Amino acid sequence: MKLSFAPYLLKFKRPFSIAHGSRDSTPVIFTRLDHEGVVGYGEASMPPYLGETHETALSFLSKAVNVLDKFRGDDNIAMILEEVDRMAHGNTAAKASIDIALHDLIGKIQNRSCHEMFGADRTKPVFTAYTIPMDEPEGIRTRVEEAQEYSILKVKMGSSDDKKLIEEIRKHTSKNIMVDANEGWKDKQAALEMVEWLSHRNVQMVEQPMPKEQVDDTAWLCERSAIPIIADEAVKRLSDIEKAKGIYTGINIKLMKSTGLHEAHKMIVQARKYGMKIMIGCMSETSCGVSAAAQLAPLADWIDLDGPLLIKEDYFSGVKFSAGKILLNDLAGIGVIPLKTLTGF
Ligand code: MG
Repeated sequence: MKLSFAPYLLKFKRPFSIAHGSRDSTPVIFTRLDHEGVVGYGEASMPPYLGETHETALSFLSKAVNVLDKFRGDDNIAMILEEVDRMAHGNTAAKASIDIALHDLIGKIQNRSCHEMFGADRTKPVFTAYTIPMDEPEGIRTRVEEAQEYSILKVKMGSSDDKKLIEEIRKHTSKNIMVDANEGWKDKQAALEMVEWLSHRNVQMVEQPMPKEQVDDTAWLCERSAIPIIADEAVKRLSDIEKAKGIYTGINIKLMKSTGLHEAHKMIVQARKYGMKIMIGCMSETSCGVSAAAQLAPLADWIDLDGPLLIKEDYFSGVKFSAGKILLNDLAGIGVIPLKTLTGF
C-alpha cells in the first residue's frame, strides 16, 4: 500500500468560539492509500488545544509510509493499525487519518460500506446536533434561525454568561439542547445547581462539566444529576473507559481521539457492556472525517457531526444533511468522493 498526504487549513464560515479560545482555522491533513488502482481517503484534524500540528502529523505519516509498505495487499486491519499505533505515543489524529483511509480502501476492495462492516443499519434515522456559538443576543436569534431544520442544538458553555446564553436561546425555541461545558465548572456544588437549572430547561445532557482530573467531584455530580453526564476530554481511547465507568453516564467518541474507526467501534462495544450511553462527535472536519464517523452513527444515542456545516469550503462529498438528519449513502468504504477543490495529491 502506498500512503500519500497533503496538509490544508480548514477555514470556518463564521468566527467560531470555544472554551479553549477563539480560532478561525484548524489544520487538517488528507491522506490517501493506494493499492492496485484502488484509492482510500482519510483525514486528520488537529484543533490547536490537542497538541498535534501539521508538522507532528507530517513527521508521523512520513514514518508510517514504511510501516504500511510492509502490508501490501494485506487486509488485516487490526494488525496493521496495531503496528501503526506502536510507532509512537499520541499522534491520535495522524493515526486516525491512516485508519480512515485503510477502512475506505479495504471497503472499496471488498465492495462494501464501512457501516455494513460494523453492523450499523443505515436506514435508522440519525439526527445530528447543530452548534450554536456564544454570540450577542441578535446573533443568537440568527443562529437559532439557521438551525431551523435541526431538532437538537449544541451549546458550548463554561463562561460567566452560561445562563444568559440558554435564556436567550429559549426566547426563540424550545428544542432539545446538549450542553458542552468543556471542563469549565470547577466547583461541584455550583455545577450541580447549574445542571439542575439546565434540566428544567429541556437540556438533555451535559458534556464534560468539570476538569477531567476532578474525578471524585464528577462522580458526586453524576450521582445527583437528573440528566446524563458525558465524558469527552476524560475519555479519548479504549483504555480510558474502564476509569470512566461509574463516574460518567456515557462517553463522547471522536475518531481524532480514538485513532479512528477500528478503536471507536471497540469503544462502543466496551461502553455498552458497562451500560454506558454513546455519543459520536467530531472536531472541525470536512465530509471525509465526518462521513467516516457517521458509519458508526446508527450505533450511538447522540450524534454531534455538524463539522461540514460549519466550514467555508469542503473537499469531499459524502454524507448528506437533510431535515436535521445525516443520510449515509451505500457507496463502498466511508462513502466519500473527493471534490475538485482537493489538490496536492
Ligand atoms: Mg466536548
